[in-house]
Amino acid sequence: ESQKQYLSGFTYGADVARAVRKLPILSGAANAGSTVAIGGGNRVDKQAVQAPSSPEQAAYEAQQRVIASGKKLSREELAKQKKNPLDLWGEISHRAQQNVFPKGDDVFLTKFQGLFFVAPAQNAFMCRMRIPGGELHAYQLEGIADLSEVSAGDYIDVTTRANLQLREIPANQGMNILYGLRELGVVCLGSGGDNIRNVTASPLSGIDPDELIETLPIAKRMHHYILNHREMYGLPRKFNIAFDGGGRISALDDTNDIGFHAVRVPEAHADQRTPMGIYFQLTLGGITGHSDFARDTGVLVTPDEALEVAGAIVRVFLENGDRTDRKRARLKYVLDEWGFEKFLTEVEKSLGKELRRVDRTRWERPEIEDRLAHIDVHAQAQTGKNYIGIVLPVGRMTADQARGLARLSRRFGSGRVRLTVWQNLLLTDIADDDLPEVQQSIRKLGLDYAASNLRAGLVACTGSAGCKFAGADTKRHAMQVAEYLEEWLTLDTPINIHVTGCHHSCAQHYIGDIGMIATKVEVGDDMVEGYHVHVGGGWGKDQGIGQLLFTGVPADEVAPLLRGLLTAYLQQRGSKEEFFVQ
Ligand code: SF4
Repeated sequence: ESQKQYLSGFTYGADVARAVRKLPILSGAANAGSTVAIGGGNRVDKQAVQAPSSPEQAAYEAQQRVIASGKKLSREELAKQKKNPLDLWGEISHRAQQNVFPKGDDVFLTKFQGLFFVAPAQNAFMCRMRIPGGELHAYQLEGIADLSEVSAGDYIDVTTRANLQLREIPANQGMNILYGLRELGVVCLGSGGDNIRNVTASPLSGIDPDELIETLPIAKRMHHYILNHREMYGLPRKFNIAFDGGGRISALDDTNDIGFHAVRVPEAHADQRTPMGIYFQLTLGGITGHSDFARDTGVLVTPDEALEVAGAIVRVFLENGDRTDRKRARLKYVLDEWGFEKFLTEVEKSLGKELRRVDRTRWERPEIEDRLAHIDVHAQAQTGKNYIGIVLPVGRMTADQARGLARLSRRFGSGRVRLTVWQNLLLTDIADDDLPEVQQSIRKLGLDYAASNLRAGLVACTGSAGCKFAGADTKRHAMQVAEYLEEWLTLDTPINIHVTGCHHSCAQHYIGDIGMIATKVEVGDDMVEGYHVHVGGGWGKDQGIGQLLFTGVPADEVAPLLRGLLTAYLQQRGSKEEFFVQ
């Protein structure tokens, strides 16, 4: 294992191990006395501020305020105080050389570099990347496929943040993955831990005939802003940002801490500050796992302003988020406690200027989402070009399939692929004449571009096969449910089924037409895997939190239960919303 080649052709075992042995083990203590950059680009002598070891000065001061108030920092905050998680590259390398996994608080801190030790579900690392806006080059996908074969399980997962993950990574291969990804131009820093996660955009940015604005370039700039503003890594908890260009495929912006959704101001206003044009509606505080969508702030920002506004919001959260209770450490709780006006005032102070508050009557938000636009063949805005949405069963493709898709993209498309928050992949820029050959080739890879109305909206988190928090094997159960229902029912409208393994709600069960969250169920003398079933969730114009309808259903009884529910819907429906929400 330790002699495996990775992409550069560099041999890990001998060369890297020698190099790693020479590296100092970096930590806050090791750096004491050095000069470091702090928020806003100022430089201070660390000794003058008593050697803060949290990622940045603002985070350090936020921790000090908690201590001064007599409250106790959470265990994770204490861990970040003791050791700077951004300075662990050498330490992680050292462990790789010794072929050991992190222990104790180091498990949490290692997530800041994108490596998750996922025991006991698997005695292995999971690596989560950052794929801003969900777009990657064909060579990157091929390289990731190669890495997955050499240093991980030979498959790749697409996540609900249009991102990629590798699994089943042995202890001595974690660094190989990180080195290999960096050589491909893929960065993992901050993909886990208390950080801003992969920035998402509308997957059809630039090719959607109906979108208001391209969001992919903005998401990429936001990504680089985060990577190059070290203070962005000192948050109390994780944080999500999404840009939705108002087109056919949703970026699910209303489930993010910051949602930017494109809107149109049709007429200029006397205030001079809001000429007619395209803006982003700013929404804040989405966290559907806590039953809350991002709420409208009454603020519009121009595309050029979005980054600095997002940066200011993150800084206010960083300074004021809860660092004592992990369950309340998200932006939503600052907003709940302060109210929006106080929060926006603080953002304005951080920005150094007023936000643009615009009356709701002055702007339009077209709602043209097509819930099936992420699968099958669709014409692009560019004449004669098409994109093909490929179904990846519960978000997984093998290394061979990934390489095959990359090849198709290079030969027939633009040499780039896109991922969606619906856990699937788009091949873009396929000429009309090439469609039959590409479609045939996709099927030869064992994949499909067509899906039933059920399969198109089937979303599942990792589940017990790879996540220690899971109460059930969500991906397997989701597939079983879909197979069973497809055998019995034909739906003429998309029905989303979201299957999530625990309250973290990575598969966002609250927004599915049907949402399942795992639980243990007593059957006779045994405890078996099962689900609570919610119905009636939605997003965007159909926004709603699913209501709990059935509790503690054993996993093997869920599919027949849903068959009954959906049969009743088909027989009695007025509209889907009426049926599910009542
Ligand atoms: Fe793991 Fe829970 Fe997220 Fe599923 S929802 S991947 S079980 S943390």
